[in-house]
Amino acid sequence: MAEKQGNKKVCPVSSKCGGCQWINRPYGEQLQSKAVRFRKMMEPFCKTEGIIGMEEPEHYRCKVHAAFGEDRKHNAISGIYEERSHRIVSVDSCLIENEKADAIVVSVRGLLKSFKIRPYNEDTGYGLLRHVLVRVGHATGQILVVLVLSSPILPSKNNFVKALLKLHPEITSIVINVNDRNTSMVLGEREQVVYGKGYIEDRLCGKVFRISPKSFYQVNPVQTEKLYGKAMEYAALTGKETVLDAYCGTGTIGLIASEYAGRVIGVELNGDAVRDARMNAKQNQVKNIEFYQNDAGRLLLQMAEQGEKLDVLFMDPPRSGSSQEFLDAAVRIRPGRIVYISCNPETLVRDLKILTGQGYRVERSVAVDMFPFTEGIESVSLLTKK
Ligand code: SAH
Repeated sequence: MAEKQGNKKVCPVSSKCGGCQWINRPYGEQLQSKAVRFRKMMEPFCKTEGIIGMEEPEHYRCKVHAAFGEDRKHNAISGIYEERSHRIVSVDSCLIENEKADAIVVSVRGLLKSFKIRPYNEDTGYGLLRHVLVRVGHATGQILVVLVLSSPILPSKNNFVKALLKLHPEITSIVINVNDRNTSMVLGEREQVVYGKGYIEDRLCGKVFRISPKSFYQVNPVQTEKLYGKAMEYAALTGKETVLDAYCGTGTIGLIASEYAGRVIGVELNGDAVRDARMNAKQNQVKNIEFYQNDAGRLLLQMAEQGEKLDVLFMDPPRSGSSQEFLDAAVRIRPGRIVYISCNPETLVRDLKILTGQGYRVERSVAVDMFPFTEGIESVSLLTKK
């Protein structure tokens, strides 16, 4: 909904949404501010390299989530939750979201009345459609639409699918996900593929990746390529190394590294993501990689206890950072290089303190702007043994 007025962007919901804290800041200034903050936070450890920004910083989010509800007159609305609440703020288009995905959400909303589908009401428990999730493959153009329903039956399902495809022939798959619980989680357990393959594929760094509705996939693929590129540069693989990709998601980092390594192991907690990772290995004909569904710390500890050797450790933990158990095990197995990819500099710094106290030094570090118009800072750091 952002419109340009001179150099200023005006988004009518920005104060309620809170998603783009920096909607009115010129992009160059945003980068500068992130670079300064990151440099200061990293000061105790090393000098940082220049922040890697985007050439076109708008509409980068390839995953779009819209909550559905009703206004007081029982008209369907869709959009985002007001910051720290469950009130839905109506949004039709957003400065940082993929434009096609936004258009699809609006079309779904437009179809509801004629199909007599009511959006779900969290207070009364009436209604069917809770959320719509759209994932767009940046390089492939494939589009997955997930309709999250409160019960498994979508009335006149086939006609609904037909009508949506007529409006958006670019959609390659539609999945119904059933979330019948009173929870703030968007997706439920049960899934039914009603059109296409049930997932999208995307290409990153020359490899193809399959992404299911529930799997983690970086939301900004343009910057992800640059991020992974830096991670590979820092890893400096020669073809012989044993590599661990910890918190591997759908196996992206490990699979990209597999070309330059001897043997790669990936570990991830989410079962759907591990399934995708194994499929991705097959699809890309990668033979020197194995994936384990496990807690990353537990697996690393097992490796350490079994006296396995590890040359390079990639770690890409969630916002909460790594665990003490993981870091202890990492120090015990003592890889020559640790490449730490972080989406939260606070937990990064906390974890670096532990590693640098245990015989590692931070050699290089760079921020990559994955989240323009927001305060988020993604980064890659290289640790080597002292
Ligand atoms: N490296 C991947 C995913 C990073 S996101 C990529 O770049 O796409 C972090 C991942 O860590 C998520 O997939 C999440 O499911 C996983 N995760 C969270 N806690 C974990 C744990 N304790 N052990 C293993 N994986 C974990």
